[in-house]
Amino acid sequence: MDVQITTLTPFWTGGVEGTTDRLHESGLIGSMRWWYEAIVRGLGGEACDPSQSKCTFDAEKYQKSSASTPLQRLRDAGLCDACQVFGATGWRRRFRLTIINDQTQPIWKDAQPLNIRPPDRTRGWFLPPGRMGTFTLRLTGDPEAIQRIAALLLFLEQWGSLGAKPQLGYGAFRIDNREDVLAVAKQANWNTISVSQSASADPDLRQFLFFRFDFTPRQPGWWTNVPGISRVSIQVQPLVQHYNIVPVTPALKNAWRFGQKWNCADEQTIFGAALPNRQRGRIVATWAYLDPGNNRWCVHGWAWLPAQSQTASMLTQTLGNATTWNQTLNVQGTLTQQRPRTTQDVRQLL
Ligand SMILES: [Zn+2]
Repeated sequence: MDVQITTLTPFWTGGVEGTTDRLHESGLIGSMRWWYEAIVRGLGGEACDPSQSKCTFDAEKYQKSSASTPLQRLRDAGLCDACQVFGATGWRRRFRLTIINDQTQPIWKDAQPLNIRPPDRTRGWFLPPGRMGTFTLRLTGDPEAIQRIAALLLFLEQWGSLGAKPQLGYGAFRIDNREDVLAVAKQANWNTISVSQSASADPDLRQFLFFRFDFTPRQPGWWTNVPGISRVSIQVQPLVQHYNIVPVTPALKNAWRFGQKWNCADEQTIFGAALPNRQRGRIVATWAYLDPGNNRWCVHGWAWLPAQSQTASMLTQTLGNATTWNQTLNVQGTLTQQRPRTTQDVRQLL
């Protein structure tokens, strides 16, 4: 299966010396695995934490298994639902992913990051030069795995992202041959994932909030008023002109973080913390991009809600406050949200 992709916000897949010389498959696979695990958990299945390499393939148990489907045999051999497809010690990934026809290029020439510093911030955000353009993902391997990956990519197109640095707004994309991918994804069978686990402490789609903000600017220079952008407008202007993108992520995160009284622990959980207890934030919002589907501007993203229900509802309210969106971006837009709560809800997103 070939999946033709157009980037909607810059892509970052890692590389040498803080630059990306080209798109790297490993950077895409890492993010796909992270989402696949969150989906598997959201469906009530089991996904180990690969950083602890919990799953090991047991060849003897595999031989002895009397299970009727290949994936169930793998479960008997000791592999969780994610490792069955993405591989583990002793077991190869069930699909191969190659980037062909990479027509992406860095959105500015030097490796210097763009520093976006909203008013009242001393340091701000540092955005490295990601890549924009088109490329094709060629997927080969086990049909059952490819069908699920097709469904995963369609889900990520609508609600997620691909590659690294999603928290800086990178990795939004469009699938150009959606009909082909949809035909494969429709055959995906998720029923072999047994519904046995309750909500996990690891990323689980039942603890996610997805959002999308669409708007039509009234004047072409709308973006110059976004907090933190005016002082770098000379660098941003060509991004708007050539790629129809505006790095609004810092302004939005700034508004959500500082427009609200969070207690210290919640603030660190939600927005991340620096060293020594480096912690990644739980909110992702893309840059603003022109959606070629409906010719409107859009920002989409998600939050992995904290387990503590009061904090989760405070975060849900903050992200759901359309006034904050409108005022920060200086536009009038429409906010939509998705909040899957059950395995059934998760299934409907796929
Ligand atoms: Zn595993």
